[in-house]
Amino acid sequence: MTDLSVRTPEDEAICERVLALEETMQSRTLEWARINTGSWNRDGLEALAPKLADAFSALEADIRLDVPEPFEKIDDQGQPDGFQTGPIIRIESRPEAPVQVIMSGHYDTVFPDGTFTEITDLGNGRLNGPGLADMKGGLSVMLGALQAFEAGPMKDELGYKIVITPDEETGNFASAPALHEAASSGAMIGMTYEPCMETGAMSGGRKGSSVFDIVLHGRSAHAGRAKDDGRSALEAAAHLVIGLEALNGQYEGVSVNVGAIDGGSAVNIVPDLAIVRFGARAPDEAAANWTTAQVERLLAEAIARDGISGHLHGGFYRPPKPRNAAQDALFTAVSETGKAIGLNLEFVDTGGVCEGNNIFAAGVPNVDTLGVMGGRIHSAEEYVVMSSFVERAQLSALLLNRLADGRIDAAKIKAMMG
Ligand SMILES: [Zn+2]
Repeated sequence: MTDLSVRTPEDEAICERVLALEETMQSRTLEWARINTGSWNRDGLEALAPKLADAFSALEADIRLDVPEPFEKIDDQGQPDGFQTGPIIRIESRPEAPVQVIMSGHYDTVFPDGTFTEITDLGNGRLNGPGLADMKGGLSVMLGALQAFEAGPMKDELGYKIVITPDEETGNFASAPALHEAASSGAMIGMTYEPCMETGAMSGGRKGSSVFDIVLHGRSAHAGRAKDDGRSALEAAAHLVIGLEALNGQYEGVSVNVGAIDGGSAVNIVPDLAIVRFGARAPDEAAANWTTAQVERLLAEAIARDGISGHLHGGFYRPPKPRNAAQDALFTAVSETGKAIGLNLEFVDTGGVCEGNNIFAAGVPNVDTLGVMGGRIHSAEEYVVMSSFVERAQLSALLLNRLADGRIDAAKIKAMMG
């Protein structure tokens, strides 16, 4: 077996090329972070997308911006409502090459327009700013690694499809089909650029995540004159919520959380509408199926109540990404490669979810925390460790080089998915 912890002369050369890109990788990240791209800020997303496309035009690849279908949300009237997000950036290179990789990342952030704009130097080589770690820094690292790889002799052995999404932080509802298509058209390995943890550790197994809305209809009536004629949707919702919360602890690793109940109005009107909004997480497919079946059972019980009707929206939008033989083989290859640049990489299981779940669901083993090192993400204290740009881009560039020259056997790892 090849010892991946050893650096070849070509590995040395690729690391040198990454080092030369340090300033470029950092400065373009700051430039991208200065444009607000909160997931609901369509103008901001549309402003940044062409700049990203322009930066990625440094690659030997075809680039296009796809406008996705609006995605459906259930509004507080229980009605579907469409939201138009920004473009999906699709990049493709060398589809005929023997090794094929899907790479992904998102350019939206959790910060609405105007909420968190300053970039502040915290000292100790850390910068605080919106999306620096999650994940504009990661996009820059992905590009830097590809630039360094493509300047070397192995590039013709490896082709890639990149999907850069505008809606990861809200669940990839608009971009999931693009991710699925890119992952299921021959990709052997997936590489996603979420930040790694503050310790440098990366994510191993991930649970699946779901979002559900149950809309319940009753019958409205005047609470004083005709209470008996009314059928309270809120009362039915209350029973439903108790049933949903009672699912906790019934199946190993499954958790359910009711986040909100919308509905009702004045106290003298029997409420005819309630929307129960909840999420559930499950560690594997069997657990996710169990959860969905329980939700359907509880809905059936709710609408069996006299005068109550209802329906279910949503489901497991991110299937679980458990560990399996393929994932473990890939994680071993990544951590051995990390040793070649002095990194001691650990893989830690997490309840969090990301595009790696979608790519796994398309049958492609993947590593999803190849981005920069950072912390306090999703808060105004988000920071990035500036030295991690080179370190993490070197890791990715070495992985690409080793996938291309066969030291990491992409086809073999993919075959382990079964
Ligand atoms: Zn992210």
